[in-house]
Amino acid sequence: TIGMLAIDKKGDISGACTTSGMGYKMAGRVGDSPIIGAGLFVDNEIGGATATGMGEEVVRTVGSFLIVELMRQGKSPQEACEEGVKRIMAKNKGRDDFQIGFIAINKKGETGSYCIHPGFTFRSYSEEGHVNNPSESYIKS
Ligand code: ASP
Repeated sequence: TIGMLAIDKKGDISGACTTSGMGYKMAGRVGDSPIIGAGLFVDNEIGGATATGMGEEVVRTVGSFLIVELMRQGKSPQEACEEGVKRIMAKNKGRDDFQIGFIAINKKGETGSYCIHPGFTFRSYSEEGHVNNPSESYIKS
């Protein structure tokens, strides 16, 4: 999955995501990416979030909507992404055989990212240039 979040000079937020789905998926499987609230959610009053990884788990937690709601409650994008991943892990005790990653942005243009396993990076672009950011992960290698 490639997820993108953007904020313009007026502070308006937009998002998009695209995916090839999971390898060896069942014919007809629908992952999280095409479901608004699961793989992608933007509320222009609060911020946006998008997900990658095991879509079934993201759908089950309405993951991107959850991240935006956590930001609505006052969490930073980073705190919201961490909470979202930890909620998924709490429902999957003892499992570490799948990846989930979220990125998020808020109205101030602050960003966050978090994933289950290391190796997930995101890139942020601004007028000042761009940076490659490794995400912190729940399960450290
Ligand atoms: N989230 C996608 C899906 O479950 C897969 C991916 O991120 O690669 O369809």
